[in-house]
This record gives sequence, structure tokens and C-alpha cells, in this order.
Amino acid sequence: MEKARYSLADLAGVVPHLEDYLYKIFEGLLDGIKDSDSSLLEQIIHEWAQIESENQISPIKINLVLVWTNLLDVTCETLQNQLEAAEYVRLCAVLIPLFSRALREASAADLKNKLWFAENELKRVRQTLERVEGSKSDFISVAAHELRTPLTLIEGYTSMLREAMPTEDSRRLQAALCLKGINSGTRRLRDIVDDMIDVSMIDNNLLALNFQPIWLNRIFESVQREFQSTLTERKHDFQITLFPGSKDMIFGDGERLFQAFRNITANAIKYTPDGGRIVIDGRILPGFVEVIISDTGIGIDPDQHTRIFEKFGRLGSVALHSSGKTKFKGGGPGLGLPITKGIVEAHGGAIWVESDGYDEVKCPGSKFHIMLPVRKSPPNDRAAQFFLSKE
Ligand code: ADP
Repeated sequence: MEKARYSLADLAGVVPHLEDYLYKIFEGLLDGIKDSDSSLLEQIIHEWAQIESENQISPIKINLVLVWTNLLDVTCETLQNQLEAAEYVRLCAVLIPLFSRALREASAADLKNKLWFAENELKRVRQTLERVEGSKSDFISVAAHELRTPLTLIEGYTSMLREAMPTEDSRRLQAALCLKGINSGTRRLRDIVDDMIDVSMIDNNLLALNFQPIWLNRIFESVQREFQSTLTERKHDFQITLFPGSKDMIFGDGERLFQAFRNITANAIKYTPDGGRIVIDGRILPGFVEVIISDTGIGIDPDQHTRIFEKFGRLGSVALHSSGKTKFKGGGPGLGLPITKGIVEAHGGAIWVESDGYDEVKCPGSKFHIMLPVRKSPPNDRAAQFFLSKE
């Protein structure tokens, strides 16, 4: 007992009532020697393992296999010193199988404990992640709503100022210039606030779609119209391929889908050096239509193909961002793709990107795939009644 206690001295502060346990173990060994039954030992091992997990002691600190190999060493050494060789061998013949069974149990208990701790740790990390995600979402929602009020004030006073413009020509020109600046600043801020509100709605499953008959080719044309001057300025070649199905009527939220295709196209323009090529193409699949928007831009590292669809998942340095909506690499806050993903998924679709990698010299380009279900009627009953009764 004493030698055992000495060899396991490290555990004295960790395991409560270590001596009691050691006493029980030797009692169990004595019992086992008498009737070759290891069940008492197994019970002690289980009790010990239980105490470990209840106390949340790290499994690395207490390794039951190590405890039992120590006990085996101490026991054999003591017996060898105190017994005649023949008696020692006879006792070992009974003891070794007992220890071997105990070691098997100890190893199983260690494994179980490690799993238990790993699961707990995973649960803890998952809870922390959920909390972080929740506070990120709360922050976006609160910030967006707080920003909206002063923004509305600025917009209101700007339009009042416009009406109260001086009539004198030179002063009028100066004031008009200032107003133009305020206007573009507030529009940009309004876009960001709207994006923040959209993201928080998507996060909280509050994005309500207004299903109406839509034609994808018309949405693509509106996107082209929206960016026409930028495309000319940036010397990009923009093409819409009218693939089979693109002119067919389907049900979807036209405004939200326009927003989604506008975001992808804005990115294609932003992340492609001047004089690039952007193509909207697609194909019809059973029950789905797949739209593919490809560009000849800087591309995206395969490691980042999932991350870019996460909130604030913009790549590159923050310092280089927010320089403009369509300027080369003029990244925004990184909300465009998460919103696009939210819109596409709310339609029952999917979005993913294909790109060989990121290379600003070779420009491998990116291909964004958007899969949308071909709906021949709106999914909700009320909208269905409205449209179908008109047919
Ligand atoms: P951002 O406001 O930064 O453009 P997005 O959510 O729209 O945010 O995009 C996230 C990130 O994905 C971008 O910062 C950019 O690094 C990358 N990205 C998106 N589209 C493209 C593209 N067509 N080519 C290269 N990189 C892209």
C-alpha cells in the first residue's frame, strides 16, 4: 500500500480519497487471488472513472492504464522481494490474468473518458460559436436600425436644401456640387444599411418572398441596364446568352432575384481588371434552371469558396476595401454574397462558385452557379389563388 501510494503520489491532490481507493484495489486483488474473480476490481475501476468525469479532471492528468501499470510494477517488485521464487511464480500465475483484465477495463474506461471530455469540449465550443454568431447578428440588426434614423434625417434635409438653392449662378453651382457629394455618400450609406437589414432578416428567417411571374432574360437585361455606364467605363465585354428556358415564365420574387443577380454581376465587374469579359449563360435541368455568371477576373482560392458566402466573408485586407461599388477590387463590407445566398436559398435553390484559384496576373476567372427551381405556380396558397384565377 505504501509503495503504491508513493508511486502514485502525483495523483494525491487530484483524486479525492486516493488511499481509500488503493485500499479497495488491494482488497479486490486479494479477493481475486482467492476466487479468480476480477469483478470487484472492474467495479473499482468504473467507480474511479466515474469520479474523474464528475470532477471534470482532465483525462490526460489521470490515465487509468498508467495507474494500473504502476500498481503492477509495485506489486510484482514487492512480492519478488518478500516471497520465495516458487511461491512468487505461483502467485504471479493468478495475479497476471487479474491485472491483464483490469488493464483492459482501465483502457476502455480511459477511452470512454477521453470521448466524454472531447464531446463536452465540442459542445462548449459549439455553444460559444452560437453565442458569437448570435451577437454578430444582433449587432448588425441594432446598428442597421440605429443608422437608419439619422440617415433619413440627412436625406430629408438634403432634399429641403435642394429646394432652397440660391439663384445666383456661381453659388448655385457650388451648392449643387456639395449636394451631389452628400447625395452619393448617403446613397452608399443607405445601400450598406439596407444590406445589413437584409442580412439580419435572412439570419432570423424573416426574408419574405413575393412570388410573381418572372422572366429571367428580363432580369438579366435590367442588370445590364443598371451597369451599362460602368461596363463601358471599365471596358468590359458583357454578354447575355439566351439559353433554353431563360425566356420562359416562372414564379419567383423578381425584385429579390434582380438583387441577387445584380450582386453577382457587381462582383464580376469589381474583381475583373478593365477590358474583361462577363457572360451570363445557363441551362435547363429537370425541375431546375441553372444560371452561370462567369468572369475573366482575379479568381478565388478554392479554400475560400465557402467562406465568401459567409457574413463579412470578404477576402483581402480591410484597408483596401470600401473604395467603390464597381471599381477594380473595390470591395464592400462582404454582405453581398451572403444576401445573394439567402435569396437563392429562400427560393429553394442553391449557389456555389467554381474557380481555379486566385491570381491577379493570370486571371483564372470565376463562375458563379445559381440553381433555381422552375416553379409554374407560386408556392403559397394566397398568391396561387390570385395568379391562377386570372389565367
Ligand atoms: P464584397 O462586398 O466584399 O464584394 P461579397 O459578399 O459580395 O462582398 O463578396 C465576398 C468576397 O468574395 C469579396 O470580397 C471577394 O474577395 C470575393 N469575390 C466575390 N465575387 C468575386 C469574383 N467574381 N471574383 C473574385 N472574387 C470574388
